[in-house]
Amino acid sequence: MEIAVIGTGYVGLVTGVCFALLGHRIICIDRDVDKIDELAAGRITIYEPGLEEELQRQQEERRLFFTTSMTAVSCADIVILAVGTPQKADGESDLTDLEAAVRSMAIYLSGHTYIMTKSTVPVGTNEQIEKWIKATTNEAFDVVSVPEFMREGSALSDTLKPERVIIGARNAHASEAIAALHRPLTEQVVETDYRTAEMIKYASNAFLATKISFINEMANICDKVGADVVTVAQGMGMDRRIGSSFLEAGIGYGGSCFPKDTHALLQIAGDVDYDFKLLKAVIEVNKDQRRHIRKVLLQELESLSGKFIAVWGASFKPNTDDVRHSPVLDIVRHLLKEGASVRMSDPAAELNFRRSLDHPLISWHTDPLEAAQGADAVCLLTDWPQFLSIDLHKLKAVMTTPILFDGRNAIKQEQLVDTGIRYVGIGRPGMR
Ligand code: NAD
Repeated sequence: MEIAVIGTGYVGLVTGVCFALLGHRIICIDRDVDKIDELAAGRITIYEPGLEEELQRQQEERRLFFTTSMTAVSCADIVILAVGTPQKADGESDLTDLEAAVRSMAIYLSGHTYIMTKSTVPVGTNEQIEKWIKATTNEAFDVVSVPEFMREGSALSDTLKPERVIIGARNAHASEAIAALHRPLTEQVVETDYRTAEMIKYASNAFLATKISFINEMANICDKVGADVVTVAQGMGMDRRIGSSFLEAGIGYGGSCFPKDTHALLQIAGDVDYDFKLLKAVIEVNKDQRRHIRKVLLQELESLSGKFIAVWGASFKPNTDDVRHSPVLDIVRHLLKEGASVRMSDPAAELNFRRSLDHPLISWHTDPLEAAQGADAVCLLTDWPQFLSIDLHKLKAVMTTPILFDGRNAIKQEQLVDTGIRYVGIGRPGMR
């Protein structure tokens, strides 16, 4: 098939590469000229393991092309919409880019085309997309909602082996055509209508965010009653009705999806006069969790003014350079406000972080031990494997005060033995 993908960010680029790998001819379109130039030259503009090599392979096979021109849509059997739908100040989804992309591609539709929406969009948006297209062209088309569930850091394998594919369509013919496209990837397909498909995406992310906020509240209680939240989560997770994933206590969720999608769902509920009390609490708990570290550091160091704090990790999770809504941004802002100097290290996200937050009291270090040099505390905020393998005896030797705040509960008891490090995790009061 000829497939055009609009938007070459984390979702669009991975989708394009994976469908090329399945043998389709893909043309990726983006309005960002620099990004398209880089991609056309075989260089990816994000950090995603394995993606650059696979992109180059598909380019060599002449199945993957890049352009800034929407005219490419005229040859496509399927157009995939993968532009960003960021959060507006009031929490609602900003559909400006999506509307611009739809209206500008619709001009070039030629012959029957399936329009597949992968961007996360509020309930009712796929109907709106139909209206935008109809206002521009008389060509035949079918809109199909196929929300995306891939995770940054494991995007290729998630896309090639999805746990399920959700297909929201207006008619059986469109649904079957898109199901056939995904059949080489999985048999687990849910065929439904637009609104249900749109809702499945929000419900899934809101539920995962709820699990995280739940275990974070449990961690805070564990701290007070002397229980260990890691073992509590392990014991809970063995029950298949609960499951062990997303039960890791820490500094809270971040990233380009959970914060925005939980706010958007609150807005969707609010629009139909429904007070989603549980989700409001989930968001509130997540906000509080980011403030927890400031409290801990003040308890340990009395004041942060003039102190050197090393921060390991900037991205919202390991194996990505994405810092959108990363809890680290908020935490570093708090530290700076208290007058601390922040010595940072991250294997991939320095550039993106600096674009969001640059400050004379922040310094960057490739080597995490160099960042810890002379520090009054080290805060492990993103659990990159590089940080977890550091010898804690060496860490103690370079620090002024050997306090290690583990915002991901990623350090093991054995690593601490005889190091003399004062360890503070989240909900692990017994760990020394
Ligand atoms: P992104 O910001 O990384 O990429 C969006 C791309 O779209 C950018 O390259 C931008 O230049 C391009 N773009 C914007 N408007 C355009 C236009 N009018 N014409 C052409 N190109 C345009 O976004 P992303 O992280 O890939 O997310 C895309 C969508 O997928 C969002 O709705 C997001 O919520 C959803 N999603 C993201 C993830 C994730 O992990 N990133 C996972 C699941 C779903």
